[in-house]
Amino acid sequence: MANPRGPRIVLLGKQGSGKGTQGARLAAYFGMQHLSTGQMFRDSAEAGVAAGVEAKSYMDRGELVPDDLVVAVVAERFENPAEVDPGFVLDGFPRTRQQALELDRILGPRPLDVVVNLDVPSDVVIDRMRSRGREDDTEESIRRRLTLYDSETKPLVEFYRERSLLTTVDGLAPEADVEAAIVAAVVSRLGTS
Ligand code: AMP
Repeated sequence: MANPRGPRIVLLGKQGSGKGTQGARLAAYFGMQHLSTGQMFRDSAEAGVAAGVEAKSYMDRGELVPDDLVVAVVAERFENPAEVDPGFVLDGFPRTRQQALELDRILGPRPLDVVVNLDVPSDVVIDRMRSRGREDDTEESIRRRLTLYDSETKPLVEFYRERSLLTTVDGLAPEADVEAAIVAAVVSRLGTS
C-alpha cells in the first residue's frame, strides 16, 4: 500500500557531492522515487526526445538548462500522483531560485519535508568529476558548473535555511554514514510534522 505521507526530500550540493548515490540509496530505503533531472535529460536525449536533445546542448557545455525546460519536465512527473505519493527524493532540482519557487507551486499543499545540503569541498568534487569520466565532464564544463553552483544554486542553502527545511550533512563521510545521517534527519522531520 502506498504510504500517503512519504518523505519529500531535496538533495542540494555541488556536482560530485554524492547526490546521485544518496538519491538511489534513499529511494531504495524509503521505497520511493529518485527523481534526477540530469538523468531524465540524459535518458530523453538518448531516446531522441526533443526536450532532451535541446537540454544536451547546455549540459555538454556545463551550462544550466533553462528554467522553463527543467520545470516542464519536473511538473510532468508530478502530474502522476501514484508516482510521487509514496514520497520522492529530488536530485539536482531545484538549481535556481526560480526553480525553487516553481517547485513550491508544483507541490502546493504538501510542501517539502527536508532539504539536505551535501557538503563537500570543491577540490574533492573536481577530483571526483575528473575520475567518473562522464561525457559532459570536461575540464571546462567542470569549472563552469562550479561557478554556476556558487552564483545560482548556493543561494538556495539560505533560501531553505530561512524556511527551516535545511539540514547540512558532511558529504565526505562514508556513503552508509551519509545515508544514515539523512535518514535520521528525515525521520525526525516526519515525526514532528
Ligand atoms: P546532473 O546529472 O545533476 O549532474 O546534471 C547534469 C546536467 O544537467 C547539469 O550540468 C545541467 O546542465 C543539467 N541540469 C540538471 N538539472 C538541472 C536543473 N535543475 N537546472 C538546470 N540544469 C540542470
